Amino acid sequence: MTYGWTGKRLRVNLSSGEIKIESIDPAYRKKWLGGRGFNSALLYDEVGPETGPFDADNRLIFGVGPLTGTFAPSSGRTTVTAKSPMGSPPGFGDSNMGGHWGPELKYAGFDQLVIEGKAAQPVYLWIHNDRVEIRDAGHLWGKQVPEADALLKEELNNAEIHAAVIGPAGENLVRYACIMNDVYRAAGRSGMGAVMGSKNLKAIAVRGTNPVQLARPDEFFEVCARARERLKQDIMAQMLHDQGTWMLTMPANYEQGWFCWQNFQQGYHPDAKLLSGENHRDNFLAHREGCFACSISCGRFSKIAKGKYAGEITGGPEYETLTAIGPRMGILDPGAVIHNNKLVNELGLDSCSCGGAIAWAMECWEKGLLGPEDTGGLELEWGNQDLIEELIEMIAYRKGFGEVLAEGSFRAAEHFGRGEDYTMTVKGHDMSQDDPRGLGFAFGIGFATGRRGGDHLQGLPCLELTGGLYPGLVKDILGTSEAGDRLSTIKKPEMEMFHEDLKAVGDSLTQCSFTHSWSFAVLLKDMAEQLSAATGIDYDPGELLKTGGRIVHLERAYWNRLLVGRMEDKNPKRFTQEPMPGGPNKGTVFPEDELLPRYYQVRGWDEETGFPLPETLQEYQLDNLMEELEPYRRQYREKVRVGKSCE
Ligand code: SF4
Repeated sequence: MTYGWTGKRLRVNLSSGEIKIESIDPAYRKKWLGGRGFNSALLYDEVGPETGPFDADNRLIFGVGPLTGTFAPSSGRTTVTAKSPMGSPPGFGDSNMGGHWGPELKYAGFDQLVIEGKAAQPVYLWIHNDRVEIRDAGHLWGKQVPEADALLKEELNNAEIHAAVIGPAGENLVRYACIMNDVYRAAGRSGMGAVMGSKNLKAIAVRGTNPVQLARPDEFFEVCARARERLKQDIMAQMLHDQGTWMLTMPANYEQGWFCWQNFQQGYHPDAKLLSGENHRDNFLAHREGCFACSISCGRFSKIAKGKYAGEITGGPEYETLTAIGPRMGILDPGAVIHNNKLVNELGLDSCSCGGAIAWAMECWEKGLLGPEDTGGLELEWGNQDLIEELIEMIAYRKGFGEVLAEGSFRAAEHFGRGEDYTMTVKGHDMSQDDPRGLGFAFGIGFATGRRGGDHLQGLPCLELTGGLYPGLVKDILGTSEAGDRLSTIKKPEMEMFHEDLKAVGDSLTQCSFTHSWSFAVLLKDMAEQLSAATGIDYDPGELLKTGGRIVHLERAYWNRLLVGRMEDKNPKRFTQEPMPGGPNKGTVFPEDELLPRYYQVRGWDEETGFPLPETLQEYQLDNLMEELEPYRRQYREKVRVGKSCE
């Protein structure tokens, strides 16, 4: 009997039509945990440096974990992984989605779904327990997400199914197309929807009815009930329930100064309170909604009562989206923000990269680097809501100027040969709406070194943001409470490393970060207890954290094989060279040159190349990578030498 995991991987080849069920052996499960860990290991093994993101040989991988589908709090998430079309060069990509799709895959009997090959014409996948069919999707192709989802449920005559669907953006290979499930839950980052579109795969509908077997059910119930009770009493969990992630607007703007205004030109706006959690709750909240087994329920449905969009009801948005398709482009009207969120979700676009591309173009227009001859006559003024609506649609269908923006801001700047300094990207991937000049310096380390380019989810080091609300916690973990100061450099590399490893564990189990890395109601020891009782294998917290570290090193090695390392670990220049111009953090820059060398030391990465050192690989039981990485390390040293001689 297999406990916790199902021990099975479903593999579907869309070129040949072959469908296989493979075993995931116990040693592999222990080494990689599940979810993100399973996916990263498979991507490393099966998608090498020579494979392009839109090649049939790329894999699109969905992974769930040993806690998925159980009573463990907030444990219903799913990681989607592939070689990403967003990076420059295209590199590691993954995204984590909530909703109910992941538990359904688990109940169908699988820990992992691997899609390979490319269908000759549009298809969808129907997984009903161990009955798996590749079906024609000609009638769904071209449909937006809600319509495709409704048609699938009607056709399969089953309202209980959960479907992961791409919109027109994915079909049109917009590099930052996302995958939506349950219509409003997104695997947003890294262009996973574009990879799905490149395989001519419109949707994956799942229905499962098998139970998850638990090794020690009474003990499991008890440890989960304890964690749920702590979440119930927890101040951060209560705030998330009350206001959703909109709760961030007020502190981000008025206290901490990292509110993203007009492509990060400012970290503060006097009217940001229009987008406050209170304003949303009191005037725009339709109802709250949680992912599977969640005792927080940060999800929102929003309704617009007045103005141009009166009568619209839609899922979301959460904080990153509301700032991406609002203030990042100069919009503060909550109705416009909610409407733009509806548009990007239904067309299947990642809000962060979509907002990033439009905001980049607007700043280039402001600075005279783009003109009407470049934009097809469009005038890219900040905050022009009619224009933004038009651009979002043009991007999804790759029409006119939208064709260039569909490539992302980094490639758009390359296309024009202008505006590179205003692309807010890391490794070619647009930043989420988070500015380390105010958010915190551990976050800044994660932005520079992130496994999929710049975003806050590399580590989510909230010890420096919310850790102070938990007496003694920062000191217990890092040996000094001074590390809890956002803009101190003390122990920030150690803090970022701790959170990166912890997040890799959470994403692999799969337990929502809001339980353990924003709220700290669920600690590492709780995760170890839940995992041990579920699987019957006794884990200690230290061993679990080490497993998270192994996953982080492997993902780093994926980039290193592409000759990406130390030289590419850099935040957008704005963060390191332009002092914050106003607001609570006026004058602050992110001290990258001080913190990155210290981070490499703490992480056990070679300071010259940013590759994991051989002894680090050995320590984390990645001996097989030691020999493999050496030729790449030598080539990268040469790249560094040539780079230095050109300076
Ligand atoms: S806290 Fe929010 S994102 Fe996390 S599982 Fe619950 S509803 Fe989903």
